[in-house]
Amino acid sequence: MKALVFTAPGTVELLDVPEPEAAPGEVLVEVRAAGICGSELHGARRPGFRKPPLIMGHEFAGTSAGGEAVVINPILSCGRCAECRRGLRHVCRERQIIGVHRAGGFAERVAVPASALRPLPPGLPWEAAALIEPAANAVHAWHQAGRALGAGGAHGTDGAQGARVAVTGCGAIGLLCAATALSGGAARVEVTDLSPARLAAAQRLGAQVAGAGLSGEYDVVMDAVGSAATRAASIAHQRPGGVAVWLGLAEEEAGFDANALIRSEKRVLGSFAYRDEEFAHATALIQDWDLTWAEGYPLAAAAEIFTGLMNGGLQPLKAVLRP
Ligand SMILES: [Zn+2]
Ligand SMILES: [Zn+2]
Repeated sequence: MKALVFTAPGTVELLDVPEPEAAPGEVLVEVRAAGICGSELHGARRPGFRKPPLIMGHEFAGTSAGGEAVVINPILSCGRCAECRRGLRHVCRERQIIGVHRAGGFAERVAVPASALRPLPPGLPWEAAALIEPAANAVHAWHQAGRALGAGGAHGTDGAQGARVAVTGCGAIGLLCAATALSGGAARVEVTDLSPARLAAAQRLGAQVAGAGLSGEYDVVMDAVGSAATRAASIAHQRPGGVAVWLGLAEEEAGFDANALIRSEKRVLGSFAYRDEEFAHATALIQDWDLTWAEGYPLAAAAEIFTGLMNGGLQPLKAVLRP
């Protein structure tokens, strides 16, 4: 079968590879849509968790051997540790991710643990199905914000209703954060980005455009960029006692004014992946949103699209491979 293989730092190639074989407890999935994630473009340039040779792809959907339409929850966890038993298996210390630690969805077929399959709602377009995984990240971030502001109990299952929200960065994750906050009852959602096309996509989802940078104060600032500058802005533009939720992973440095954080009791919460209920919630929410900013491409074009995105020369807002 054909697969897009990460073969060396900075290199991906469309190759003929052996058919995957399902081990006991696994099933074969015929991949119909697989989104290219910013973390993969970064990971291909500077290999960390992802070690070549690897078939990447952790945002994907397809059909199972029985013909059912399924989406894959790519988070694999031990199921035994304290975090797993508390329903927080996304922060399990033995966490592995399909497409990061083992072969993922940038292929015609992939073998995955049967426990990773989730049903898809009937009639959902395949491109939308591939956006469920990134949308689950946004749902979790929204719940993190709600938890910080006192809604929804210890695990924050309500989000920050009524909040004035800012989202920095309108890549796919930023757009999905804005959409989640609007669906979840935010009073107002303002977004920043340098790209007019990205800002237009945010407006089609119902967000207001703050421009290239934030001004004023917000209850919640969601940082979908993760640079030292956007992290500093998430503190500076947070009201006293508000919260910044950090999802972006662009840089390792934070670079914020820690004393301002202390004096105004500001807060920062990291947000990574999602709980199982949040993945299910994202599957329901995705049906309501304008996703015309996601573009499908045949697997034959995968190497060219991935390389173009990695080198910054090609700019679809979100590329979804359609094996
Ligand atoms: Zn991703
Ligand atoms: Zn565990």
